Amino acid sequence: MILDKERLRANLDEVIWNIEEARITVSEHNIVKLVVVGKYTELENISTLYDLGQRAFGENQVQQLKSRMDALEALPLEWHMIGTLQKNKINNLIDARPTLMQSLDSLALAQELNKKLEAKETQMHCLLQINAANEESKSGFSAEEAYDMYQNIQESCPQIKLRGVMTIGAHSEDTALIQKSFESTHNIFEKLQKEGATYCSMGMSADYELAIKCGSNLIRVGSKLFK
Ligand SMILES: *Cc1c(COP(=O)(O)O)cnc(C)c1O
Repeated sequence: MILDKERLRANLDEVIWNIEEARITVSEHNIVKLVVVGKYTELENISTLYDLGQRAFGENQVQQLKSRMDALEALPLEWHMIGTLQKNKINNLIDARPTLMQSLDSLALAQELNKKLEAKETQMHCLLQINAANEESKSGFSAEEAYDMYQNIQESCPQIKLRGVMTIGAHSEDTALIQKSFESTHNIFEKLQKEGATYCSMGMSADYELAIKCGSNLIRVGSKLFK
């Protein structure tokens, strides 16, 4: 559904206001970046959000990411890859040159990505995806292995520039469990800051305020903006 500008403005204002309220409870110096996830919505709504001041967008499929980047090439936007990357799509993603690839979820993927980046003589900024609640349905590194794997990838995959961590909050009605998954990811992020980690990406439409209160500085919001 294509939404009119006033509707999108109201939705965006509401999210920005909520971010502001949540981040102030942590620290005035805690700056939170909003990445708008466009996977459910039309291209028109993305360009309207650009008119309203939004600059960072995310997609979970390489094909859609690439076609939207091409369609909006004239605009100064940042593009984030946030979904599972299939091995046969690695070259397409590299050619798209996303700002940040947030879903580096296995050592095998890191090695394959590094090899293909090397062949193309280029680099990619990535976040390590953490499956903090150890859910079967999610990919990513366990909280236990994340710190060592981060260092391992930094050393063995020089074309990959790790910039921090990403997690999807526990799939649960129980706020305490979701909070625990955010806290566990944030603990890893804190340890990794001395390794150069700058992004702790956590929080989506249903839980971004909680995520910010747990230390997130990058949230990925979709459905809330397109209602
Ligand atoms: C879809 C998606 C989002 C946004 O989800 P909403 O609940 O619609 O805000 C955020 N992160 C990832 C990894 C996603 O796949």
